[in-house]
Amino acid sequence: MDFIPMPSTADVLGVLIAIFSVAIAAASSYYFVSRKPKGCLDPQKFKEFKLIKKTQISPDVARFRFSLPTPKSVLGLPAVTYVLCRGKDSEGQEVIRSYTPITLDSQVGYFELVVKMYPEGRMSHHFSEMREGDYLAVKGPQAFKVPFNYKPGQVRAFGMIAGGSGITPMFQLTRAILENPKDKTIVHLIYANTTFEDILLKEDLDDFARKFPDRFKVYYVLSKPPEAWTGGGGHVSKEMIQSHCPPPAPDIRILRCGPPGMNEAMTAHLNALGYTSSMQYEF
Ligand SMILES: Cc1cc2nc3c(=O)[nH]c(=O)nc-3n(C[C@H](O)[C@H](O)[C@H](O)COP(=O)(O)OP(=O)(O)OC[C@H]3O[C@@H](n4cnc5c(N)ncnc54)[C@H](O)[C@@H]3O)c2cc1C
Repeated sequence: MDFIPMPSTADVLGVLIAIFSVAIAAASSYYFVSRKPKGCLDPQKFKEFKLIKKTQISPDVARFRFSLPTPKSVLGLPAVTYVLCRGKDSEGQEVIRSYTPITLDSQVGYFELVVKMYPEGRMSHHFSEMREGDYLAVKGPQAFKVPFNYKPGQVRAFGMIAGGSGITPMFQLTRAILENPKDKTIVHLIYANTTFEDILLKEDLDDFARKFPDRFKVYYVLSKPPEAWTGGGGHVSKEMIQSHCPPPAPDIRILRCGPPGMNEAMTAHLNALGYTSSMQYEF
């Protein structure tokens, strides 16, 4: 009969220590990989966020930066969702309206809203009165009425047609696409406004176009352009859509977000150009 040598206590201990170390390493790497920062929003309950910066970016639009509880906190906002904000109108009555943050969870410690203020607007009154140091009640995230369900690479290209403050959901989605190096989607944005001063987030949009020339293109259209304007003039036309949006195809989508009249006109143009309803989406 062969003699099978018994392992020594030192050998057994060595093996046990090795197994233990591997288990600890696996558990800690799982902990760090799976430990995504928790979002600060609650879809059921309004929570207060402090305004830390208010910047006027056009005659009637301001950019509001709110701080999150810690410099490492994230808002907890998936791309293509929005939040509800609660405030008081000029008569002290409570008012709740929807806003689309232009930041995502890649911006830590703060989030930003771009808000157009209308002279008679109830929530506009609240935002115009807000000063740095004030708090805003925010609830979310909320999904758009026709769910968008953005997934990286879900289409080959997006055409986006935005008017005025309708830029906010387009900006949020564009940021999500461009910040993800694995998402190869191409974005063609047509952005319409009245005057040059009305163009919102122009610096940020031009910055995207400079940094991602193969993935993002923007074409500005002004109904009252200044002299020596190289962008489009008048209203967004069928010809502009043909030149600056991807042509109809099953793997493209055209998104629109603007005032009701503009959305109606764009729907008519898109239908006439052969974009089927499944190729179109309105925020
Ligand atoms: C999902 C969603 C996301 C939104 N995201 C943003 C955003 O990121 N930024 C932003 O600025 N707005 C956004 N809005 C619009 C916002 O919710 C409010 O409707 C807007 O701020 C006006 O609210 P108010 O209470 O000041 O005006 P209200 O008191 O509701 O309206 C009073 C008057 O204001 C004028 N007015 C209001 N809205 C418009 C309009 N769209 N076009 C022309 N005149 C108008 C009209 O004269 C109206 O009679 C979003 C809306 C939705 C549905």
